[in-house]
Amino acid sequence: MIRIEPGAGDRDVTFFRLARTLAGRPLYWSGAYLVGGALVDCGPPVTAPELTRALDGRRVDALLVTHHHEDHMGAAALLGRHRGLVPKIHASGVPRLERGFPQETYRRVAWGRPPRVHAEALGAEEAVGALRFEVIPTPGHSADHVCFFERERGWLFTGDLFLAERLRYLRDDEDLDSLITSLESVARLPLTRVFCAHRGPVRDGPAALRRKAEHLSGLRQSARELLAQGLPEREVTRRAVGPEGFLTWFSLGRFSARNFVKAVARGR
Ligand SMILES: [Zn+2]
Repeated sequence: MIRIEPGAGDRDVTFFRLARTLAGRPLYWSGAYLVGGALVDCGPPVTAPELTRALDGRRVDALLVTHHHEDHMGAAALLGRHRGLVPKIHASGVPRLERGFPQETYRRVAWGRPPRVHAEALGAEEAVGALRFEVIPTPGHSADHVCFFERERGWLFTGDLFLAERLRYLRDDEDLDSLITSLESVARLPLTRVFCAHRGPVRDGPAALRRKAEHLSGLRQSARELLAQGLPEREVTRRAVGPEGFLTWFSLGRFSARNFVKAVARGR
């Protein structure tokens, strides 16, 4: 399923919402931005044909990828064949795109399996047409995660750094301390707009980013204190983070509230 939103957050930005459907309903939205001639992320493998068709007749000069997860680079191989694009990603993500990476069943169900694709390393800055994107390393969600910052306009494309102000789940491979440091560092940039890969343009984005950084560091602090009291992880999770939900079940625990507490326990 694809939904095209021209003028998303700015008249020069088009957001393509992309999702696999189950009984006609979207399972989980991801997305891609076309800004100037730059495509920022390209959604999951399952919607690659739809995105490629939607881009017919539009100018696309570069494919910039925020990180290696399949819901961000899944159309890269097809776009390479149809449009001659080569995805650019943080240097540590290049071998993941070229040789593939492990993918749990729930991810294969939600997004499909990405074909391997030739990739190139991002520079410190990527100029595409009149726009210049500073490449800001923002590890945490994944080690190769970056944001793209267009300083003149104050735009930040955040991939999976933002997602929601109050996250209820963490992946088991996420680095919570790095995630908080990354959020704090981008929150200090002179931002006007924040573009999330899953949500679309974030309302009141710069302030929402700051609030998310504060919320996560507060949550880390409470979890630390409760763990220091000797409470078991399950109880700390219930008090500091909240209950588990559908995503925990669907991902067999790879996504969970408890992963917050495990991350804090690892960092103590
Ligand atoms: Zn991701």
